[in-house]
Amino acid sequence: MLVVVALWVLGGGVQDLVQASTALTSIGRLSALVASDLLLIQVLLMARIPMVEMTYGQDELARRHRWTGFWSFNLIVVHVVTITLGYAATSPTGLWATITDFVLNYPGMLLAVAGTVALVAVTITSIRAARARLRYESWHLLHLYAYLGVGLALPHQLWTGKDFLTSTVATVFWWTLWAAAAMSLIIWRVAQPLWRSLRHQLVVEQVRAENDRVTTVVMRGRMLHRLPVRAGQFFQWRFLDGHGFTRAHPYSLSAAPDGRTLRITAAHLGDGSARLATLRPGTKVFFEGPYGRLHEGVRTRRKVLLMASGIGITPMRALLEELDQRPGDVTLIYRASSEQGHILVDELNTLAQRRQARLFVVTGRRASQRSSWLPQDYTHLGDVEALGQFVPDVASHDVFICGSPGWMDAAEHAVLAAGVPPENVHIERFAY
Ligand SMILES: Cc1cc2nc3c(=O)[nH]c(=O)nc-3n(C[C@H](O)[C@H](O)[C@H](O)COP(=O)(O)OP(=O)(O)OC[C@H]3O[C@@H](n4cnc5c(N)ncnc54)[C@H](O)[C@@H]3O)c2cc1C
Repeated sequence: MLVVVALWVLGGGVQDLVQASTALTSIGRLSALVASDLLLIQVLLMARIPMVEMTYGQDELARRHRWTGFWSFNLIVVHVVTITLGYAATSPTGLWATITDFVLNYPGMLLAVAGTVALVAVTITSIRAARARLRYESWHLLHLYAYLGVGLALPHQLWTGKDFLTSTVATVFWWTLWAAAAMSLIIWRVAQPLWRSLRHQLVVEQVRAENDRVTTVVMRGRMLHRLPVRAGQFFQWRFLDGHGFTRAHPYSLSAAPDGRTLRITAAHLGDGSARLATLRPGTKVFFEGPYGRLHEGVRTRRKVLLMASGIGITPMRALLEELDQRPGDVTLIYRASSEQGHILVDELNTLAQRRQARLFVVTGRRASQRSSWLPQDYTHLGDVEALGQFVPDVASHDVFICGSPGWMDAAEHAVLAAGVPPENVHIERFAY
C-alpha cells in the first residue's frame, strides 16, 4: 500500500491536488490505485497460500477478505465518480458527453464497465442480509464473478492508467503484483489440489451412520503418510458421485490421520451433508487442503483444554487422539444439547481412558436468560466460575474451541476472563 501511494506522490499526485482543475482526477487516480491494490490483496487472501493460511486461519482470512472487498468497492465508486467529474469539469462538452466519450473511445473502458458491473453484483450479494437469502452454492457461484471483474478491469489500467505507465518501477511493481496474484491462484487453488488428489487417489472405504442426522465417512488412499496433515485440520471435499463434484464442502478430520485413511464426521444440515449418507464405497474423492490452525503446531503449553459443542467435537476427537500428552495434560469439555445429540461419545471415552485425559460431557438445553457456554441447569454458576471447577489451572492451558457460533463466543469470553492469554486461545469456526 505504501509503494502504491509513494508511486502516486512521485507521479505528481500531491501537486495535482492543490490545483482545482486536476484535484478531482488526482483523487480519482489515488483511489483507483489503492482499490486495485486492495482487490489484489483480496485475491491473495483467498489464494490458500500456505504461509498465510497457517498464520491467520481461513475464518480470519475470510473476515479480512470481506472487509478488504467492501473497501476496494467503495474506492472504486470514488474513482469512477471523481475521474468522471474531474474530466467533465475541464471538458467543454459537459458531463454526459464526457461519460459517453470515456466508455466508447478510451481503450479498455468498455471492459472496465463490464468488470464494475460484475463487482457490483458480487458486493451486493455479499451484504449479510442479501447473502442470507441465497443458497450457499448460488452465492458462491456469483462470487466467482469477482475474478471476472478484476480481470476485466485490468486492461483499462494498463492502457490508460497514468500511474501504471509513467515509470518503469510502477510498471514492474504492478505487473509483479498481478502475476503473483494469478500464479498464487493457479498454484494453490488449482495445481496443488489436483496434484494431491491424483497422487493420493482417495476413495470412500466405509460409510457409517452415527445416528439418523450424523454420518461418518472413512476414505483410503495411496501414500497418505506423505500428505502433510495433522489432527484438527480440515479439507474441502468433493465426492465424485454425479453432480457432487461441482460442490466442495469443508469438513474437519474426526480421527487422527494414520497414514492409510482419512475420516470425517458430518451433521446433516442441508443437501450436501445429507448426501454423505448415500455415498457408496469406491466413490472417488477430490480434495483441497489440509487447512486450518487448530493443530498441535500452534500449541505452546504442556496443558491443553479442548472445548467443543455439537458437531464441533469432530476436530477435538482427532486432537484428543493425536496430541502429545502425559496423563492429566489434556482435558476435553464436550457440550451437547441432549443425550440423543451425543456424537462419538463411546470413542471419546475409550480415547480418554487410553490417553489418561479428562473428559467432561456437559449435557442440557441452551441457557435462555444469558449467553453462556453452560447449559440452562448450570447457569446458577458464572461462566468463569464453572470453568474453574472443571479446570482449576485453566490460565496455564492452551485452549482449543470449536462449536456453534454463539456458544464459541461465550466459551472464548469465559476462557479469556479466566486469564488465558488471547494468543493461547485457538478457534475454528464452521461458518464464515
Ligand atoms: C472449516 C470448517 C470445518 C467444518 N467441519 C465440519 C465437520 O467436521 N463436520 C460437520 O458436520 N460440519 C463441518 N463444517 C460445516 C459444513 O461444511 C457445512 O455444514 C456443510 O458444508 C453444509 O452443507 P449443506 O449443503 O449440507 O448445507 P446447506 O444448507 O447448503 O448450508 C448449511 C450451512 O453451511 C454453510 N455452507 C454450505 N456449504 C458450505 C461450504 N462449501 N463452505 C462453507 N460453508 C458452507 C452455509 O452457508 C449454511 O450456513 C465445517 C465448516 C467449516 C468452514
